[in-house]
Amino acid sequence: VDPTFRDQYVKPSELLEMGFNSIITNAYLLKKHVNIVSDVHNYLRFSGVIMTDSGAYQILKYGGVEVSNEEIIQYQCKIKTDIGVILDIPTQYNVSFDEAYSSALETYSRAQEAIKVINSEQCQDILWVLPVQGGVYIDIVKEFAQKSVDVFYNGFSIFALGSPTTLLEQYLFDKVIDMIFAVRSNVPFSAPLHLFGAGHPLIIPFAVALGVDMFDSASYILYAKDDRYITRKGTYRLKELEYTLCSCPICSKYSPKELREIPKNERVKLLSMHNLYVIREEINEIKQAIKEGRFWEYLEAKAYMHPAAKKAFETLFKYLEYLYKHTPYSKPNVKAVLLVSQNSIYNPKVLIPRRKILSRISTVNKSIIIFIPYISKDKVFMNNFVSNILKYVSTDTGSAKVYLYYPIIGIIPYELLTLFPYSQFEIGVEITDKIIEDLTYIIFESISLLKKDTSITLIWCKEISWQQELINRIIKAMNNSKLQRHIKTMAIECT
Ligand SMILES: [Zn+2]
Repeated sequence: VDPTFRDQYVKPSELLEMGFNSIITNAYLLKKHVNIVSDVHNYLRFSGVIMTDSGAYQILKYGGVEVSNEEIIQYQCKIKTDIGVILDIPTQYNVSFDEAYSSALETYSRAQEAIKVINSEQCQDILWVLPVQGGVYIDIVKEFAQKSVDVFYNGFSIFALGSPTTLLEQYLFDKVIDMIFAVRSNVPFSAPLHLFGAGHPLIIPFAVALGVDMFDSASYILYAKDDRYITRKGTYRLKELEYTLCSCPICSKYSPKELREIPKNERVKLLSMHNLYVIREEINEIKQAIKEGRFWEYLEAKAYMHPAAKKAFETLFKYLEYLYKHTPYSKPNVKAVLLVSQNSIYNPKVLIPRRKILSRISTVNKSIIIFIPYISKDKVFMNNFVSNILKYVSTDTGSAKVYLYYPIIGIIPYELLTLFPYSQFEIGVEITDKIIEDLTYIIFESISLLKKDTSITLIWCKEISWQQELINRIIKAMNNSKLQRHIKTMAIECT
């Protein structure tokens, strides 16, 4: 919210009505242009949570501000903000390593210097934000995230990542993802993380995936002033639109043509509101997906909406270990896992149980191991299928252990078939080369972990061509390795 209201268009009270319970405004502009001395909630007529930025954005834009760190902190206390920010020095875009380093160092020193003020009596009820700077220099971001932890515990409540605005404007999401990870993985997991300047539905879910909790952005107005219409898949110019792509109150009332004919000021207001509705919808979708335990599936779908989103998604692959570590594995009322693309092989809900099974396979105490394709969700059919194979392969069924194999899911101990996630997944994916390669890997890995004298049988269905390919690749991998295992393969008619 622009505290001078020159450039605001949507009132804070309207924001609250639209479902935004917290807003951010700028303490530096408030002090410089309005200089209120009482509660900012009264001034803005906003009863929700108010966060005040310190003027860092003005430093970024104009190269300096006429206020000191201590003054702006004191001022934020005086106007009773809920969430305050120290006067950090944003790392500018396109600066050298040394310049980036000095902005990060200066921000860090200012956080140290702020400890005394933020703990003073009139500042105590405020949640203070500790920004970490460094720009695209990941080593700098990491170093100052680590260093800041001690300072953080002296009165701060929220970490923030500064200055990705230019990167976000240029859709360089991969760099932003790396920066987020550098902070998130080096500060306590329990500390909330704010991302400055992020307000586009294409980046928000990926930032959330890495543990960002809060965002702010003026994009809704900046875009509207430029006649840009945000959608959850990307941004349009209003003149490009034949149809509205949303059902918010604005888009339900006006066609793009009608919107274009509305006078500029009113149009900026309407477009701003539309943009906000879209951002709110994105946030709600994210929250719902997290509640349902289907956030990975959501990210997969999002990645197909825009090349920048795809890049952000693929950058997450670098941090899978971190994501798995912090993914709650089981939840009550868990829903079916949706296997929607070949990237479902990285879904934590698939990968975590896969690893558990692999970690236990070397302790299996059976002399015969049989890998059987999982070909039907019908339990009775599958039971008959497996017992027929067992009769054929082994006279003593008690001595055999059966693993069912399935694309993406991996291998399933037969006795666990009725448990989550094996009993509950929906697949809508073409079996690609990457998926076959992945299944080859997991079966090969399992075989290599089995005891040397185990007799192994790989069953496959003659009529399913990818299974033949799979068996060929496993045999090839066995031949290329020095592993000595007794393996038989057997093609059967499955239908
Ligand atoms: Zn709309």
